[in-house]
Amino acid sequence: MIFKHKEPMMINRTPRLLLSLALAFTIQAVLAQEQLKKTPETTEIWEPQPRIVAPADKPGGAPADATVLFDGKSFDNWSSLEGGTPKWSLKDGAMTVVGGSKDIRTKKEFGDFQLHVEWRSPAEVDPEKTGQGRGNSGIFLHGKYEVQVLDNFNNKTYANGQASSVYKQHIPLVNACRKPGEWQTYDIIFTGPRFNSEGRILHPAYVTVIHNGIITQNHIAIWGPTEYIGLPVYKPEVKGPIILQDHGNPVSYRNIWIREL
Ligand code: MG
Repeated sequence: MIFKHKEPMMINRTPRLLLSLALAFTIQAVLAQEQLKKTPETTEIWEPQPRIVAPADKPGGAPADATVLFDGKSFDNWSSLEGGTPKWSLKDGAMTVVGGSKDIRTKKEFGDFQLHVEWRSPAEVDPEKTGQGRGNSGIFLHGKYEVQVLDNFNNKTYANGQASSVYKQHIPLVNACRKPGEWQTYDIIFTGPRFNSEGRILHPAYVTVIHNGIITQNHIAIWGPTEYIGLPVYKPEVKGPIILQDHGNPVSYRNIWIREL
Protein backbone atom coordinates (compact mmCIF):
# COMPACT_ATOMS: atom_id res chain seq x y z
CA MET A 1 0.00 0.00 0.00
CA ILE A 2 1.28 3.50 -0.91
CA PHE A 3 0.73 6.35 1.53
CA LYS A 4 0.53 9.83 0.17
CA HIS A 5 3.08 12.20 1.54
CA LYS A 6 1.51 14.94 3.66
CA GLU A 7 3.91 17.76 2.77
CA PRO A 8 2.02 19.05 -0.35
CA MET A 9 -0.94 19.91 1.91
CA MET A 10 1.38 22.11 4.08
CA ILE A 11 2.64 23.91 0.97
CA ASN A 12 -0.94 24.65 -0.05
CA ARG A 13 -1.71 26.24 3.33
CA THR A 14 1.19 28.71 3.32
CA PRO A 15 -0.11 31.10 0.64
CA ARG A 16 -3.50 31.18 2.39
CA LEU A 17 -1.88 32.08 5.68
CA LEU A 18 0.16 34.85 4.02
CA LEU A 19 -2.95 36.08 2.25
CA SER A 20 -4.86 36.23 5.56
CA LEU A 21 -2.02 38.08 7.27
CA ALA A 22 -1.76 40.58 4.42
CA LEU A 23 -5.51 41.11 4.57
CA ALA A 24 -5.38 41.64 8.34
CA PHE A 25 -2.59 44.22 7.97
CA THR A 26 -4.45 46.00 5.19
CA ILE A 27 -7.61 46.18 7.30
CA GLN A 28 -5.59 47.48 10.24
CA ALA A 29 -3.90 50.11 8.06
CA VAL A 30 -7.26 51.22 6.63
CA LEU A 31 -8.76 51.39 10.14
CA ALA A 32 -5.75 53.40 11.40
CA GLN A 33 -6.14 55.74 8.43
CA GLU A 34 -9.84 56.12 9.20
CA GLN A 35 -8.97 56.85 12.83
CA LEU A 36 -6.52 59.59 11.70
CA LYS A 37 -9.27 61.16 9.66
CA LYS A 38 -11.71 61.11 12.53
CA THR A 39 -9.85 62.67 15.48
CA PRO A 40 -7.76 65.84 15.52
CA GLU A 41 -5.94 64.56 18.61
CA THR A 42 -4.36 61.68 16.69
CA THR A 43 -2.00 64.11 14.92
CA GLU A 44 -1.11 66.09 18.05
CA ILE A 45 2.42 65.61 19.42
CA TRP A 46 2.80 66.57 23.08
CA GLU A 47 6.28 65.36 23.94
CA PRO A 48 8.91 66.61 24.07
CA GLN A 49 7.77 70.12 24.98
CA PRO A 50 10.16 72.93 23.81
CA ARG A 51 12.50 74.31 26.43
CA ILE A 52 11.44 77.72 27.72
CA VAL A 53 13.77 80.61 26.80
CA ALA A 54 13.05 84.09 28.10
CA PRO A 55 13.33 86.64 25.29
CA ALA A 56 15.24 89.90 25.77
CA ASP A 57 13.51 93.02 27.08
CA LYS A 58 14.10 94.84 23.81
CA PRO A 59 14.69 93.89 20.16
CA GLY A 60 18.27 92.84 19.49
CA GLY A 61 18.92 92.03 23.15
CA ALA A 62 20.38 88.70 24.22
CA PRO A 63 17.83 86.00 25.10
CA ALA A 64 18.26 84.29 28.49
CA ASP A 65 20.21 81.32 27.11
CA ALA A 66 22.57 83.31 24.88
CA THR A 67 26.29 83.68 25.49
CA VAL A 68 27.14 87.37 25.41
CA LEU A 69 30.39 87.61 23.44
CA PHE A 70 30.71 91.37 23.67
CA ASP A 71 28.82 93.65 26.06
CA GLY A 72 30.73 96.82 25.23
CA LYS A 73 32.83 96.71 28.38
CA SER A 74 35.63 94.18 27.91
CA PHE A 75 37.58 91.93 25.56
CA ASP A 76 37.14 89.01 28.00
CA ASN A 77 35.82 86.66 25.32
CA TRP A 78 38.24 87.80 22.61
CA SER A 79 41.88 87.54 21.74
CA SER A 80 44.16 88.46 18.88
CA LEU A 81 44.80 85.58 16.47
CA GLU A 82 48.21 84.96 18.06
CA GLY A 83 46.71 85.12 21.57
CA GLY A 84 46.72 88.06 23.98
CA THR A 85 44.33 90.97 24.33
CA PRO A 86 43.07 92.48 21.05
CA LYS A 87 44.71 95.75 20.07
CA TRP A 88 41.43 97.23 18.91
CA SER A 89 40.07 100.31 20.70
CA LEU A 90 37.37 99.93 23.34
CA LYS A 91 35.21 102.89 24.23
CA ASP A 92 31.62 104.14 24.44
CA GLY A 93 30.30 100.57 24.57
CA ALA A 94 31.88 99.58 21.29
CA MET A 95 35.10 98.07 19.98
CA THR A 96 36.66 99.53 16.87
CA VAL A 97 39.21 98.22 14.41
CA VAL A 98 42.60 99.90 14.71
CA GLY A 99 44.06 99.52 11.24
CA GLY A 100 47.03 97.17 11.21
CA SER A 101 46.25 95.62 14.59
CA LYS A 102 44.97 92.48 12.80
CA ASP A 103 41.89 90.31 13.14
CA ILE A 104 40.47 89.26 16.49
CA ARG A 105 38.77 86.01 17.44
CA THR A 106 36.51 84.59 20.10
CA LYS A 107 38.42 82.49 22.60
CA LYS A 108 35.75 79.81 22.28
CA GLU A 109 34.83 77.79 19.20
CA PHE A 110 31.29 77.12 18.00
CA GLY A 111 29.53 74.59 15.77
CA ASP A 112 25.95 75.47 14.72
CA PHE A 113 24.58 78.74 16.04
CA GLN A 114 22.44 81.86 15.93
CA LEU A 115 24.62 84.96 16.06
CA HIS A 116 23.64 88.59 16.60
CA VAL A 117 26.17 91.30 15.70
CA GLU A 118 25.82 95.07 15.49
CA TRP A 119 28.31 97.01 13.40
CA ARG A 120 28.91 100.55 12.22
CA SER A 121 31.00 101.85 9.38
CA PRO A 122 32.82 105.17 9.94
CA ALA A 123 30.61 108.27 9.71
CA GLU A 124 33.24 110.25 7.84
CA VAL A 125 33.34 109.02 4.28
CA ASP A 126 36.61 109.54 2.47
CA PRO A 127 35.56 110.24 -1.17
CA GLU A 128 38.88 108.78 -2.28
CA LYS A 129 37.85 105.43 -0.84
CA THR A 130 35.30 103.52 -2.89
CA GLY A 131 34.22 99.92 -3.43
CA GLN A 132 35.98 97.55 -1.06
CA GLY A 133 37.89 100.44 0.52
CA ARG A 134 34.91 101.87 2.39
CA GLY A 135 34.06 100.54 5.85
CA ASN A 136 35.44 97.09 5.12
CA SER A 137 35.50 94.44 7.83
CA GLY A 138 33.96 90.98 8.04
CA ILE A 139 32.58 88.27 10.26
CA PHE A 140 34.23 84.90 9.71
CA LEU A 141 32.04 81.99 10.81
CA HIS A 142 34.10 79.00 11.99
CA GLY A 143 36.95 81.45 11.41
CA LYS A 144 36.76 80.79 7.66
CA TYR A 145 33.42 81.68 6.01
CA GLU A 146 33.15 85.46 5.67
CA VAL A 147 29.89 87.36 5.87
CA GLN A 148 31.06 90.67 4.47
CA VAL A 149 30.85 93.91 6.43
CA LEU A 150 31.11 96.89 4.10
CA ASP A 151 29.63 100.38 3.66
CA ASN A 152 27.52 99.89 0.55
CA PHE A 153 25.33 102.92 1.08
CA ASN A 154 25.78 104.67 -2.29
CA ASN A 155 28.94 102.67 -2.81
CA LYS A 156 29.04 100.08 -5.59
CA THR A 157 31.31 97.06 -5.63
CA TYR A 158 31.20 93.53 -7.06
CA ALA A 159 27.83 92.13 -5.95
CA ASN A 160 29.24 89.02 -4.29
CA GLY A 161 31.59 91.20 -2.27
CA GLN A 162 29.13 93.72 -0.83
CA ALA A 163 27.69 93.94 2.67
CA SER A 164 25.86 90.77 3.65
CA SER A 165 27.40 88.74 0.85
CA VAL A 166 29.07 85.46 1.60
CA TYR A 167 32.28 86.96 0.32
CA LYS A 168 33.18 85.99 -3.27
CA GLN A 169 30.32 83.48 -3.24
CA HIS A 170 26.73 84.57 -2.68
CA ILE A 171 25.16 87.91 -3.66
CA PRO A 172 22.74 89.22 -1.01
CA LEU A 173 19.08 89.20 -2.02
CA VAL A 174 18.92 92.97 -1.49
CA ASN A 175 21.13 95.85 -0.36
CA ALA A 176 19.81 96.64 3.14
CA CYS A 177 22.57 99.08 4.18
CA ARG A 178 21.98 102.02 6.47
CA LYS A 179 23.97 105.24 6.11
CA PRO A 180 27.60 105.23 7.28
CA GLY A 181 27.84 106.14 10.95
CA GLU A 182 24.56 104.37 11.80
CA TRP A 183 24.45 101.09 13.70
CA GLN A 184 23.39 98.06 11.66
CA THR A 185 22.42 94.54 12.68
CA TYR A 186 23.23 91.11 11.37
CA ASP A 187 21.32 88.09 12.60
CA ILE A 188 23.06 85.02 11.27
CA ILE A 189 21.81 81.43 11.48
CA PHE A 190 24.58 79.02 10.66
CA THR A 191 24.73 75.25 10.26
CA GLY A 192 28.26 73.98 9.93
CA PRO A 193 29.34 71.39 7.37
CA ARG A 194 29.45 67.70 8.20
CA PHE A 195 32.07 65.16 7.13
CA ASN A 196 32.36 61.39 7.31
CA SER A 197 35.18 59.63 9.16
CA GLU A 198 37.36 59.87 6.04
CA GLY A 199 36.87 63.64 5.86
CA ARG A 200 34.54 63.51 2.86
CA ILE A 201 31.79 66.08 2.89
CA LEU A 202 28.31 64.87 3.86
CA HIS A 203 26.70 68.28 3.57
CA PRO A 204 28.04 71.84 3.17
CA ALA A 205 27.61 74.71 5.63
CA TYR A 206 24.35 76.64 5.37
CA VAL A 207 23.77 80.24 6.31
CA THR A 208 20.84 82.61 6.65
CA VAL A 209 21.58 86.32 7.11
CA ILE A 210 19.11 89.00 8.20
CA HIS A 211 20.52 92.50 7.70
CA ASN A 212 18.70 95.28 9.57
CA GLY A 213 15.64 93.00 9.82
CA ILE A 214 15.71 92.16 6.09
CA ILE A 215 16.63 88.69 4.88
CA THR A 216 19.64 88.82 2.58
CA GLN A 217 20.81 85.18 2.52
CA ASN A 218 18.13 82.52 2.69
CA HIS A 219 19.63 79.23 3.89
CA ILE A 220 22.22 79.13 1.14
CA ALA A 221 24.91 76.46 0.84
CA ILE A 222 28.40 77.84 1.36
CA TRP A 223 30.90 76.57 -1.22
CA GLY A 224 33.80 76.36 1.23
CA PRO A 225 36.18 78.63 3.16
CA THR A 226 36.38 82.20 1.83
CA GLU A 227 39.16 82.71 -0.70
CA TYR A 228 40.27 86.08 -2.04
CA ILE A 229 41.70 84.40 -5.14
CA GLY A 230 40.43 81.15 -6.61
CA LEU A 231 37.75 78.68 -5.64
CA PRO A 232 37.10 77.37 -2.14
CA VAL A 233 37.80 73.83 -0.96
CA TYR A 234 36.31 72.46 2.26
CA LYS A 235 38.47 71.39 5.16
CA PRO A 236 37.00 68.70 7.43
CA GLU A 237 36.47 70.95 10.45
CA VAL A 238 33.13 71.26 12.26
CA LYS A 239 33.88 73.99 14.80
CA GLY A 240 35.70 77.28 14.87
CA PRO A 241 35.85 80.75 16.41
CA ILE A 242 34.08 83.89 15.28
CA ILE A 243 36.72 86.13 13.72
CA LEU A 244 36.23 89.85 13.14
CA GLN A 245 38.33 91.29 10.35
CA ASP A 246 40.77 94.18 10.42
CA HIS A 247 40.65 95.46 6.84
CA GLY A 248 42.22 98.77 7.75
CA ASN A 249 38.96 100.74 8.24
CA PRO A 250 37.77 101.85 11.70
CA VAL A 251 34.59 99.73 11.73
CA SER A 252 32.94 99.38 15.16
CA TYR A 253 31.11 96.49 16.80
CA ARG A 254 28.78 96.23 19.77
CA ASN A 255 26.16 93.90 21.30
CA ILE A 256 27.41 90.53 20.06
CA TRP A 257 25.74 87.38 21.36
CA ILE A 258 25.47 83.78 20.26
CA ARG A 259 23.12 80.85 20.88
CA GLU A 260 24.55 77.44 20.11
CA LEU A 261 22.06 75.18 18.35
MG1 MG B 1 35.78 92.06 4.54
